[in-house]
Amino acid sequence: MTASPTLGSIQIPQMGFGTWNLGGQAAAIQHALQVGYRHLDTADIYGTHDDIAAALRNSGIPREKLFLVTKLWSHSLAPDKVGPAVERFLRELNTDYIDLLLIHWPSRSVAAEDTLSAMQDVQETGAVRALGVSNFDKPLMERGLEAGYPLTNNQIEYNLNHRSDETLAYCLENAVTVTAYSPLERGSRSQEAAVAAIAEQHGATREQVLLAWLMAKEMVVIPRSGKPAHIEANWASLDIALSEADIQGIDAAA
Ligand code: NAP
Repeated sequence: MTASPTLGSIQIPQMGFGTWNLGGQAAAIQHALQVGYRHLDTADIYGTHDDIAAALRNSGIPREKLFLVTKLWSHSLAPDKVGPAVERFLRELNTDYIDLLLIHWPSRSVAAEDTLSAMQDVQETGAVRALGVSNFDKPLMERGLEAGYPLTNNQIEYNLNHRSDETLAYCLENAVTVTAYSPLERGSRSQEAAVAAIAEQHGATREQVLLAWLMAKEMVVIPRSGKPAHIEANWASLDIALSEADIQGIDAAA
């Protein structure tokens, strides 16, 4: 595992737990917390704020040990909507602060700068620790950073079959952490052969190798699972040390 990525002075656990489609499955979220996950990824649109609150309450884990990420959906991007949305998120999550607040998708009707200014105002109240975006490509990231917004994270799709390398490189060069979403999306058959060989060498599963590959490329990962055995196996990928040859082998697989 590489060193834990940081958002300025704030550490973001490199292995997080995705909660899309886990509405009503607080037990799965709670299992992830028991296994060791301390970073939970959610969004207004996932409808899992309440499930996360329930899992946190049952886990007994102190709030300061957790890293909560949530995202503003399109209906909350207008500057006057941001503050009220965050207040609602805090109630739903039953917390005093959000560790990382993201714009879920770039908007055609609201300039990112306007939303980001409102997010900064909320950050100043202490309700949010760090700001970021999701699904922003390189030109959009350039625009935000050049305008001086403190973007610390970009959550983008990155997996075996979908590699946003230009955006990844730009973000890392500019000290913006990258979270790979949908990290386990199934790859093509030829890619699978390359991954299977490396997985066998490490006595690991393809999913564990894929997560280790993304983390070796300095990304944060947020796999989702509703199954205890998968939740545990994904966590165990933190112990897999891929060689440079392994990483290049997966990089080259197409
Ligand atoms: P994912 O994590 O890539 O894959 C989830 C699928 O993989 C599930 O069907 C799960 O099934 C299966 N799985 C998980 N672990 C496995 C294992 N060890 N072995 C075999 N199968 C396994 O998919 P995702 O939910 O799309 O992405 C992860 C998270 O990223 C989301 O939950 C969400 O938090 C975030 N996300 C963000 C955006 C955005 O726009 N910012 C978009 C999409 C997703 P089981 O339940 O059966 O294990």
